[in-house]
Amino acid sequence: MANITSLKPLLSHSSTFTIPGGAFAEDYNNWTNYALTTPKAVIKTTSESDIQTVVKFASEHNLRVSVRGGGHSTFNSCDGIILDLAGWDEVVYDDGDDTIRFRPGALVGKVVEVAGGRGRCIMSGTCNTVGMTSLCLGGGLGPLTPKLGMAIDSLLSARLITASGELLTVSPESNPEVFHILAGAGQTLGVVTEIQMKTYPINETLNTVDETVFSASVTFPASRAAEIGDFLSSMKWDENTAVYLMLLSPPKGGGLLFIFSVNYYGSDEDAKRALKVLYDLKPIAETTSRVPYVQGGQDEAVGERGGFKRMAAVGLKRVNAEGLKGMAEALENLLAVGDDLGKSCVLLEFLGLGAASKSSVGVYPHRDIDIWCIPIAWYNRPENHESAEKFGRDVRKAVKAGDVSEDMVVYPACRAGDEKPEELWGNKETADRIAEMKAKLDAKGVFLKF
Ligand SMILES: Cc1cc2nc3c(=O)[nH]c(=O)nc-3n(C[C@H](O)[C@H](O)[C@H](O)COP(=O)(O)OP(=O)(O)OC[C@H]3O[C@@H](n4cnc5c(N)ncnc54)[C@H](O)[C@@H]3O)c2cc1C
Repeated sequence: MANITSLKPLLSHSSTFTIPGGAFAEDYNNWTNYALTTPKAVIKTTSESDIQTVVKFASEHNLRVSVRGGGHSTFNSCDGIILDLAGWDEVVYDDGDDTIRFRPGALVGKVVEVAGGRGRCIMSGTCNTVGMTSLCLGGGLGPLTPKLGMAIDSLLSARLITASGELLTVSPESNPEVFHILAGAGQTLGVVTEIQMKTYPINETLNTVDETVFSASVTFPASRAAEIGDFLSSMKWDENTAVYLMLLSPPKGGGLLFIFSVNYYGSDEDAKRALKVLYDLKPIAETTSRVPYVQGGQDEAVGERGGFKRMAAVGLKRVNAEGLKGMAEALENLLAVGDDLGKSCVLLEFLGLGAASKSSVGVYPHRDIDIWCIPIAWYNRPENHESAEKFGRDVRKAVKAGDVSEDMVVYPACRAGDEKPEELWGNKETADRIAEMKAKLDAKGVFLKF
């Protein structure tokens, strides 16, 4: 067994090498501390050549390496070496070809801000604090999916360091077979040190003139789950509408609420016409505003770091009354376990796949799924692990009972970790192709396995 300290002198002075102590969880500042493993060493770096040194050392000494960008998953720690790239967050806009390049620590909010500063938008996610690189590598769903497809549909190229320390440029022209797997299953192949993406003009893309988006919040009590479920089971949203529905317990107490957060890409008049069906259901509260594109992402709410959080995104073709009632019952049961679980919630995303279904970039398999259900158990006490796990299972069971397909479909970038390959990758053939590429680039399994 190698002495991990023998790695330190091999690194340049620009990188830091730390052997973590007892306060690892606090120092690491992850979104969730569930399954957090204390490594032998944490290396913070902005140097490709130091990353090459680290992965070669790990390969030679049979050590695992975990890569950390925005720190929002349960898969970014291991008992070997953590490459913590959070501080490497440079974002560069290229005026020549209107593309954007970013380093592995750049968060969604920063990439959106830099693009927005040039009057351009990008295909990103809902939460500003998520790592943009990892989001792209896993497919990338977001409020602009109905207009722009998945994030991988905007991916132009990446720089990838493999387990042997080789640095590859990966694009449709250079190493195209690696590009194909990287676009969707890229979190398993090595260390991505840069991504280049397309950008789009904000006003033309969002049907606006002042770089703002119509945003509505519409609230119903969860006691009306059946009615809302019936409404959703027959509702089809067009490509100008991105709909998020949160089921939660209000912080000030009271019964569970369903809160729709809707982005509409068009004028206020068109938005009100499109959303009339929702207002006709007579919500108990509603607000509307026009939000600058660059301020659209969520920060503190779901992005808050620390504690334990468990989530898995289950894909659906339909939700109905039974599904919504079952979801609400599962959350009531979880909250009854104790106040520690009070911030737990369920998020439903309705992201029309018009643009995404026309693309065949990469191995992202679920281009026919336009509804995602994401139960989030959120707590601090380890004794609640079991209740959290049961909640996830109960919500999945409830919503799948109302779905038109029995097959379990899971968004690979938001997986729990116990899924079968077909649930993540749609079929055995795709799962096998990913495994083959993994074996080629990372034969010893240095990096994350799915
Ligand atoms: C609150 C929240 C909101 C989310 N919203 C969305 C959303 O709107 N759309 C969406 O598509 N997804 C969303 N996700 C899922 C998210 O895309 C994945 O969890 C993603 O992996 C998180 O990336 P990160 O860099 O923040 O996390 P990390 O934990 O730092 O990284 C996750 C994993 O990605 C891999 N990875 C990270 N950086 C690199 C790199 N440079 N090279 C190679 N591999 C790397 C590693 O395997 C790592 O374990 C959300 C997740 C959360 C928790």
